[in-house]
Amino acid sequence: MQYISTRGGGRPLGFCDATLAGLAADGGLFVPDTYPEFSEAELVALAGQPFEAMALAVLSRFAGGELADAELKSDIDAAMATFRHAARTPLVQIGPRDFVMELFHGPTFAFKDVAMQTLARLMDRILKARGRRATIVTATSGDTGAAAAEAFRGRDAIDLFILYPDGRVSDVQRRQMTTIADANVHTLAVAGDFDDCQRIVKALFVDRTFNERVAMSGVNSINWARVAAQITYYLFGALALGGPHRKVAFSVPTGNFGDILAGYVAGRMGLPIEKLVIATNQNDILDRTARTGRYAPGRVAPSTSPSMDIQVSSNFERLVFDLSGRDAGSVMARMADLSNGFELTDGERAAMARLFASGRADDADTARLIGEIYAETGMIVDPHTAVGLKAARETALPDGVPMVTLATAHPAKFPDAVEAGCGVVPARPAALERVMRDPERMTRVPAEIGAVADHILDHSRAVTA
Ligand SMILES: *Cc1c(COP(=O)(O)O)cnc(C)c1O
Repeated sequence: MQYISTRGGGRPLGFCDATLAGLAADGGLFVPDTYPEFSEAELVALAGQPFEAMALAVLSRFAGGELADAELKSDIDAAMATFRHAARTPLVQIGPRDFVMELFHGPTFAFKDVAMQTLARLMDRILKARGRRATIVTATSGDTGAAAAEAFRGRDAIDLFILYPDGRVSDVQRRQMTTIADANVHTLAVAGDFDDCQRIVKALFVDRTFNERVAMSGVNSINWARVAAQITYYLFGALALGGPHRKVAFSVPTGNFGDILAGYVAGRMGLPIEKLVIATNQNDILDRTARTGRYAPGRVAPSTSPSMDIQVSSNFERLVFDLSGRDAGSVMARMADLSNGFELTDGERAAMARLFASGRADDADTARLIGEIYAETGMIVDPHTAVGLKAARETALPDGVPMVTLATAHPAKFPDAVEAGCGVVPARPAALERVMRDPERMTRVPAEIGAVADHILDHSRAVTA
């Protein structure tokens, strides 16, 4: 299997090269040249299997023979062993045909652990096989940095540099990064906002000389291996509640469109999906796109579900590529300059509407849903999950089709919003208690490209002369 760019440039890469590169050389995103498909018999055989077996079935199809099944299995097993629940992503029933799938039982209590734990092990393996090291640089507004720090700690072949905006992430989120004691995890508190962090990371990526000297690599949600790892829980949910002939719908709290894109790919692989619901907070660019066909980035408005406070949903480019009939030229023309937004054609919009629905929740809606779910079931949900539940409730489905809302974070990560919604302060799990106690370690840097570059050159083991 080969990976091609949504913008048509560069040459196709295999799975390992695409995983290390993250972004394609022309600024596009890697997609597989064809989607592998599960036969009906294969889906029947997978039903009832452990999460790890399903992850192997998915990833081996995308690895295209570049990694042996035994290698993939060993990394998947180790990744999922960091989860605190035997089912890994358990389903909880909240209504006659309504379910929540809890994706937050990993080390940092958010769904990003599922993919990041797997990706870290695969990257380390690929680099070691090549006798190489890499430097990973990532900007975070909270959850990605925490998931990356936990996943990459202690990996021999990799140094991780996390840039976060000083004073602008929650105490829990900051401590999840800064209490990691491993020497290969470097946390940089940037004197600026998230946009400054992202601007610095992008500038370092496009600086060829620097990029090559430190063997720079990326792990944000545009990395294909992360999307591939996330496909597993759609398989897990759909086969638990449906089957080859019984469809299931999913509601997905959405920011960068990485999580829900995995659901779309699961459908392309033959999973019987009735609807995918794009659930947004007041940063509703994707809800507006689904309703009007016009993608128009605005300004980020802070919300009580901060991990979805985003105005440019990078992974949407992969869906546009497919909606356009894989017309890289039309993707290039629309994505190269997003400042004025772009339009979907009527045909693209109709194709999108066949599989996707959408919804929006502002902070008041979010608080109300947290209260309603608590009153109806006693379940305490986090604000991101509440956004998903509102959109799920507003989506009409054919009789008998189950709706699964993805619970993307543990409520204890967002205690204030949860208390405001249902009057209860969520209990803090023991692993988060440790994070609140352990000593912190970080380096304060100005919001300047040169200062960050110097720090990386001084500290990464991947640096060559
Ligand atoms: C990252 C994140 C999301 C959004 O996921 P995308 O893949 O960016 O759409 C939703 N909820 C939580 C808790 C997150 O951390």
